[in-house]
Amino acid sequence: MPGMSKNGEGSLGWLRERNRERVLGTLRERGRISQADIARVTGLSRTTVHTLVAELKDSGLVHEVDTGEHEIRGGRPAVQLMLRDSSLTAVGIDFGHSHVQVAVADIAHNVLAERRCDLNVSRDARTALDTATRMVDEVLGEAHVDRKSVIAVGMGIPGPVDRGRGTAGSPSILPGWTGLRIESEMQQRLGMPVEIENDANLGALAEMTWGAGRECSNFAYIKASTGIGAGLVVDGRLLRGASGTAGEIGHTTLDESGALCYCGNRGCLETVASGPAIIGLVSSGHPETLTLAQVIELAMDGDARCRRAISDAGREIGVAVAGLCNLINPERVIVGGLLSRAGELLLQPIRESIRRHAVFAAAERGEVVAASFVERAELLGSLALALQASDKRTH
Ligand SMILES: [Zn+2]
Repeated sequence: MPGMSKNGEGSLGWLRERNRERVLGTLRERGRISQADIARVTGLSRTTVHTLVAELKDSGLVHEVDTGEHEIRGGRPAVQLMLRDSSLTAVGIDFGHSHVQVAVADIAHNVLAERRCDLNVSRDARTALDTATRMVDEVLGEAHVDRKSVIAVGMGIPGPVDRGRGTAGSPSILPGWTGLRIESEMQQRLGMPVEIENDANLGALAEMTWGAGRECSNFAYIKASTGIGAGLVVDGRLLRGASGTAGEIGHTTLDESGALCYCGNRGCLETVASGPAIIGLVSSGHPETLTLAQVIELAMDGDARCRRAISDAGREIGVAVAGLCNLINPERVIVGGLLSRAGELLLQPIRESIRRHAVFAAAERGEVVAASFVERAELLGSLALALQASDKRTH
């Protein structure tokens, strides 16, 4: 076996220990989860999971919680498992272009306190970092959480992230952040380990942990808003790629002679389906420039032009998503971001495009659903990121 070493790697004891860590890791990531779901998420057999969970319960690391709900089939009470040490906490920070959100959660994934403030984040990174630092102190105080109990901080920024360097990956998207070592700057301010991630990946983590991706090991989360990005979960893990920019679906070329995109290429998906592209289309007929939220509202009220602009955007997004389905064969495509507020008006054309453009097996298998979270997606995702980061650190 390649990679097998002399220190017992590949041996039975090593395998058992590795499986135990996977079960513990899954509990940290998901908060509360049933034994059957642990088996599904880890790919371990039910018998293996049963044995490991029994040991973990004996050693006091894990306990059972009765959720009070009943399983749909069978009528048995849905017993879930969670880690006992819920005195540990994680902090999430979400930077949008014009807001900062901060929250603290315990290891069982209960959000204990959260706060939001409006701020021009793109322009001045240092002010944004200072504001977030103050807000972290505030939420910890409000939830009576000791700083020492915080195992990690997850932080999201609205653009590509260079995870190796801990910096923003594109100078044109967050001009005020260029060259700044975001991760280490924040780490110094807070005195806690910090990890950063882009907004679409955080949306995927939020859906995987609390939302529409909970039952899936393979799904694509599409964030359709001002920009269009994707967070891809493959075999229960976020797919990050070599430098962390996997999922930049917004710059898929749809038309080589199409409109010039801010990224420097022509005919990218964002030139025809992003928030600004939709606004540009419908604003020519309106006296004042509309916001994306207003366009969605008008569409829901029956405005024909706004409806057409959104469904055309859906059709174009579907073309790019079809390519994605061919590549990763997801069980589910979860559509989030502000544009997902348009519901079926957006989802139906995405489904049609996938049917037209993806190979039959990939298209038939994947269902397209709306995300569970829109406004809080990145904040919840940053908490999930912190819980995952803590898992890596303690093992
Ligand atoms: Zn582009």
